[in-house]
Amino acid sequence: MSFSQEEGILLRSHAYSETSRVLRVLTPGRGVLPLMARGLRRKVGRGEGAVDTFDQVQIVYSFRPHRDLQTLTELKVLRSRQALGSDLVRFSGASLLAEMLLVHALEEGSPTLFLEVGRAMDRLVDVESRSVAGVLISAGWRILACLGFAPELDSCVRCGAGLETDDAADGAGDGSLLRFSALQGGLLCEACGRNGAGSRLGPGARDDLRRLLAGTPPTPLRGSAVHLSLLEAFALGHLAPNAPFRAMDLLRAALEKGDR
Ligand SMILES: [Zn+2]
Repeated sequence: MSFSQEEGILLRSHAYSETSRVLRVLTPGRGVLPLMARGLRRKVGRGEGAVDTFDQVQIVYSFRPHRDLQTLTELKVLRSRQALGSDLVRFSGASLLAEMLLVHALEEGSPTLFLEVGRAMDRLVDVESRSVAGVLISAGWRILACLGFAPELDSCVRCGAGLETDDAADGAGDGSLLRFSALQGGLLCEACGRNGAGSRLGPGARDDLRRLLAGTPPTPLRGSAVHLSLLEAFALGHLAPNAPFRAMDLLRAALEKGDR
């Protein structure tokens, strides 16, 4: 048995017994780590509150390979993201990102993914309201890309024909609608998309999708409901969860209500 210390992001916490909880923590070194935390409140440093979901934490744990649950020995909150809980869009958005990570349950470390998720959670806490939808959907696409499921936006996923670049979409694009097939993994050229399934996106929406994937979401994001549906369909198709994302209905309703 060896003790490890890592930074982490608490994705989920549920009661296991009266005095213990099971935590799922995203770490840079070991992916999503399931941890048994006995007497968690006592382990949180003196004068600090209990740990909240999505907090940035420092954990010490004993690690044994092939064990379902590792044992948490220390936990310290490095950065509280409790503020996420006061806004339904931000909270359900963070919950959706966490669900995507939990469904995939990455077992190897990915420092890039860890940084991406931490940055997304920080931005969800801080950004102005009209930027939240873009930040959230952008984070969803970038998490998928880190997990190896980046959508193909530059060439047809079926025949490989080159599609227009950002420049063409901004300026001299012909305004044609191209199909985005979540199941096939990206955009289809006009010929391949003629009889296919999937949402039809104009040049503006395609350009926005590229910006979301690049981590520079437009503010405000036009058609955020459509973009959320694209992300949902793609994530369902490629992460293949057993059930729909639980946070999605809440998020969709909150976005509609807030009109952003
Ligand atoms: Zn094609």
